[in-house]
Amino acid sequence: MSHLLVLNAGSSSLKFGLFQSGPGDPQALVTGLVERIGGAARLVLTGPDGDRLAQTDLPARHAQDHHGALHAALAEVETRFPEAEITAVGHRVVHGGRDFADPMELTPDVIARLETLVPFAPLHQPHNLAGVQAAMAEFPQARQVACFDTAFHRSHPFVNDTFALPRAYYDKGVRRYGFHGLSYDYISGALAEMAPTLHKGRVVVAHLGNGASMCGMLAGRSLASTMGFSALDGLPMGTRSGQVDPGVLLYLMEQEGMDAAAISDLLYKKSGLLGLSGISHDMRTLEESDDPHARQAIDYFTFRIRRELGGLAAALDGLDAVVFTGGIGENSARIRHQVCSGMGWIGIELDEDANAQNASVISSDLGRVRVMVIPTNEELVIARAAARLAGG
Ligand code: ADP
Repeated sequence: MSHLLVLNAGSSSLKFGLFQSGPGDPQALVTGLVERIGGAARLVLTGPDGDRLAQTDLPARHAQDHHGALHAALAEVETRFPEAEITAVGHRVVHGGRDFADPMELTPDVIARLETLVPFAPLHQPHNLAGVQAAMAEFPQARQVACFDTAFHRSHPFVNDTFALPRAYYDKGVRRYGFHGLSYDYISGALAEMAPTLHKGRVVVAHLGNGASMCGMLAGRSLASTMGFSALDGLPMGTRSGQVDPGVLLYLMEQEGMDAAAISDLLYKKSGLLGLSGISHDMRTLEESDDPHARQAIDYFTFRIRRELGGLAAALDGLDAVVFTGGIGENSARIRHQVCSGMGWIGIELDEDANAQNASVISSDLGRVRVMVIPTNEELVIARAAARLAGG
């Protein structure tokens, strides 16, 4: 029986999943996370129903880098599935640049091209590629497949692909790539099964997690995204700023003497919900807080989602459905309520009971627009691609 390994290597974490391939969709057997790589690393293993199977602190030799973390993760997996024969490894790779619109087998040529994209995603791409190297060393016989967060958005028309900068920058690759593509790909497929007519229409998907973005889809394909050149644009996130006037950055450089590293730290790690609230990046903590700054951070978050919803509906020439996903989108009735209230003008009317229960359809019959909650599954999208390319 052949198995697929899914890897998502972040700066200090490694998420992984073991899937069994078969005639239908790959079946998840176990998922896991190694966090705090480079420090006091810890491994958590979870069963397919969300049950916690193991939680261990890693010894120093496994904690120091992605190779060690992968080794420790595989040792846990092998103990539970000694028969597993891994024929393909699917990797989440944040940037596929302008060329990669589909998953790719990781040949030396493809890896070399992905390395040239490191300047476009310096905080993520090197770690993704470190995960690839670790998996190649561990499974030299397996097919290695890359799935890109940007790929789903390669269908953007020029006006949603460019900035109004001199053309030379567009030609150099300074474009609106958009991210969270694996999640949008999953939602597009799920919608095609659950509501095929809506899938053919105009849909806005709000992926609201620690990272947050929205995507306008026409007939299941991305037409516009709130994220642009980097994963900083658009909505405010746990610690990322979302959209800021570029003039602010000029001011910070000229008046406060901040360099690129300091601005990067500010925009990626100290802004968003954390920066505005001064309390936490975590939505649950903010929802539980009485502090007015927590309230303002939530209000800013939902205000920006509402603005983008209007903008994306205009880009789509109308709106047939809204889908909420991601940790916040799937679980926070309060955020969904705040986003959707007073949106009758665009055809959105919530069924508050259904919303409180995180039901899959949370709109009432009074509105024209169907509002849905669909849990995302980025790992399954990677596993499907790995199975497809390994089979071919
Ligand atoms: P990531 O982008 O890291 O994958 P997730 O999609 O897991 O993040 O989303 C994490 C966010 O979801 C956190 O802000 C967390 O507080 C929020 N979240 C999870 N459950 C709930 C809940 N029941 N109510 C409100 N927010 C929640």
